[in-house]
Amino acid sequence: MADIGTIVAEITAEMRGATERGRVADYIPPLACVSRDRFGIAVVMADGTLHLGGNAEEPFSIQSVSKVFSLTLALGMVGDALWSRVGREPSGSAFNSIVQLETEHGIPRNPFINAGAIVVADVLLASGTPAEAIAGVLRFVRSLAGDETITIDARVAAAEQATGYRNMALANYMRAFGNLQHPVEQALGVYFHQCALAMSCRQLAMAGRYLAHDGRDPATGRCIVTPQRARRIAALMMLCGHYDNSGEFAFRVGLPGKSGVGGGILAVVPGTASIAVWSPGLTPKGNSQLGALALERLAAATGWSVFEACSGL
Ligand code: GLU
Repeated sequence: MADIGTIVAEITAEMRGATERGRVADYIPPLACVSRDRFGIAVVMADGTLHLGGNAEEPFSIQSVSKVFSLTLALGMVGDALWSRVGREPSGSAFNSIVQLETEHGIPRNPFINAGAIVVADVLLASGTPAEAIAGVLRFVRSLAGDETITIDARVAAAEQATGYRNMALANYMRAFGNLQHPVEQALGVYFHQCALAMSCRQLAMAGRYLAHDGRDPATGRCIVTPQRARRIAALMMLCGHYDNSGEFAFRVGLPGKSGVGGGILAVVPGTASIAVWSPGLTPKGNSQLGALALERLAAATGWSVFEACSGL
């Protein structure tokens, strides 16, 4: 196997020349302005070595990748009680679908579809006002990444607030079933702001390390979550992280991953690496076209897969 730095450089060169780049999300107006020619990748190894390629230092809207971090926070607050309000099954439906909510009595299938993440945002409101809950998410992500410069893009949050009719429908529907405990506007306010977190691939890969290393920050040994919780969050990423394309992603890449409509994907290789890729052009199912391809190339070149036989076991 070539060294990781060479593999990352080769993937970056291939993605730079790619012609099939997908379409940027345009239902959130500021996202429509991002150039499709962007591509970034960051791989952080267990010992902290970083391999960067392309636009790895450019902040982008992490959108649904934030659902991993809000879920982690909510589990820290209410533990397994969360699972009475949110399921743990793949939805097989689009990220913003409402269809299952009626037959399933306002309980979203999983925390990574929009409805599930809105319930998680409602849980976070137990920590205080919407502003305090949002500040808590930002503080958590900054501490995970070890980077105080990470911000929330207020313009993106405002645009989501102005155009998020489907999310409003989901939230109102769940409130009617008694599955939101705070006013709909407050849960959505937290949700829209967490989605508007702006992070670079490097910052995102750094923030994801605890999921690759049994819940610990490998640099400091600091425990973020228990090993069991880290594995369970990764299991949900594998099964639900790409909406109705999760099976395809597992088939092609074989790693737990979470995508967002900003074109970012966070993926983890247990015990080995945390990876972030970004390219804003999406497939029709809302996942980064080149991001997934880059991860497929990386997994093939390195042999990284959770399905790889481990000689130690
Ligand atoms: N903020 C986006 C929405 O609610 C997130 C969707 C995504 O990234 O999948 O529609």
